[in-house]
Amino acid sequence: MAFLGKAAQRVMACRQTLSPLCRATTRCYSSQSTHTTEKSVPYEKILKQEDGLSGPTKPLPKSADVVVIGGGSLGCQTLYHLCKLGMTNVVLLERDRLTAGTTWHTAGLLWQLRPSDTEVELLAHTRNVISSELEEETGLETGWIQNGGLFIASNKQRLDEYKRLMSLGKAYGIESYVLSPAETKDLYPLMNVKDLYGTLYVPKDGTMDPAGTCTTLSRAATARGATVIENCPVTGIQVKVDDLGVKRVKAVETAHGTIQTPCVVNCAGVWATKLGEMAGVNVPLIAMHHAYVVTERIEGIQNMPNVRDHDASVYLRLQGDALSVGGYEQNPIFWNDVSDKFAFSLFDLDWDVFMQHIDGAVNRVPALEQTGIKSTVCGPESFTADHKPLMGEAPEVRGFFLGCGFNSAGKTVFVWTPLTFNVWTVFLYLVFFFIFLYTLPDKNQDFLKCF
Ligand SMILES: Cc1cc2nc3c(=O)[nH]c(=O)nc-3n(C[C@H](O)[C@H](O)[C@H](O)COP(=O)(O)OP(=O)(O)OC[C@H]3O[C@@H](n4cnc5c(N)ncnc54)[C@H](O)[C@@H]3O)c2cc1C
Repeated sequence: MAFLGKAAQRVMACRQTLSPLCRATTRCYSSQSTHTTEKSVPYEKILKQEDGLSGPTKPLPKSADVVVIGGGSLGCQTLYHLCKLGMTNVVLLERDRLTAGTTWHTAGLLWQLRPSDTEVELLAHTRNVISSELEEETGLETGWIQNGGLFIASNKQRLDEYKRLMSLGKAYGIESYVLSPAETKDLYPLMNVKDLYGTLYVPKDGTMDPAGTCTTLSRAATARGATVIENCPVTGIQVKVDDLGVKRVKAVETAHGTIQTPCVVNCAGVWATKLGEMAGVNVPLIAMHHAYVVTERIEGIQNMPNVRDHDASVYLRLQGDALSVGGYEQNPIFWNDVSDKFAFSLFDLDWDVFMQHIDGAVNRVPALEQTGIKSTVCGPESFTADHKPLMGEAPEVRGFFLGCGFNSAGKTVFVWTPLTFNVWTVFLYLVFFFIFLYTLPDKNQDFLKCF
């Protein structure tokens, strides 16, 4: 068994000697970017079932008001929210099974406090839907666990930043507390607090279950009239040019039929670029390897909050009586050749890249030094240049919407449905238009009487 602390030493040894043993073992910290389908991950037994399906799970309709492409977190969320807005002639097409891309293995952490009002509102909405609304609507549990979140500050500047987050949170009704190192130790006895300046504790943060959430979202959407079709890859998108020379979505093609539609939402994760190309739309995201490791049991870790140490760029997610340890890689591996065959699959973990998280994790929870690694989870995730998602209608083609590029936050940020955005935008334009008219000189007031 590899221990987290020992893993560091082994990597250093491998780097220097690259011993035969090191070359032969699967946990040999290789830097290959091949993928494997046989990783020991917590959800494997549920999701990797051979169901023998060869064609679409349902017949394709001839037409739809909206076709959502991709049955991951974003696709299911978009479908559900469209239905809640009253649209029922909506179809979701998934190449494989729901969650097969990135979503099935996500860590699922939900931190409510972020340095942007929009994200804070979106996350509050997410939390509300997942922790109560969906369950009330469907009677199904989403797998939400409210174990709280703890942000670590190792210096005054970081704690000042957290205090600003706390103020922002107050405006949105999010409960949070700044804790001293001693108070943090009381809350999280396994934590090393010697180098702590303070922490920010958000008791109603938590973790969502990717499969449970997507199943519940899709059930709620289908109960409202939507259609979910799995095993049905989209192979083309027809675009027409209207009388004014404007390009518009016309239809979605698959090997099993074509669906006429004026509107497509591209929720295809790291495959979104390929879907964009089918319609002549540029989708500026890049696929990278992103990873965490799941530890063996840690005595005393049960019920602890999730931990985010921004300075060490590491997070510790509670996973039953163990931890998942991950972070943002500073020297990530790009996945340039995105494969269409990749479903419920993972990459081999490159320990040279992952090692940057180990020191920070072991420093924060020293028990990790002697804790074994049960499994590694390294999957593809989309990243964008400004670390913000791509949402809304693409400028090149009317009716082609994007819901992708979620920078490792796509499990917990609900789409403020792009179509809603349009309705609200039109509404706001109208409001501003009338305000503008009312501020015009008197002679124009006659015009207003027309309304
Ligand atoms: C290791 C790791 C840890 C993470 N931890 C967190 C976390 O703690 N919190 C968080 O919020 N986020 C986290 N994320 C990020 C989060 O998992 C993703 O942002 C999110 O799952 C992306 O969802 P998606 O629906 O955009 O993409 P996907 O889940 O990849 O869904 C896209 C779907 O499109 C389908 N598809 C592709 N091509 C076609 C086609 N031609 N026709 C039809 N369907 C197609 C695919 O099969 C796939 O199912 C993590 C990611 C990774 C890799």
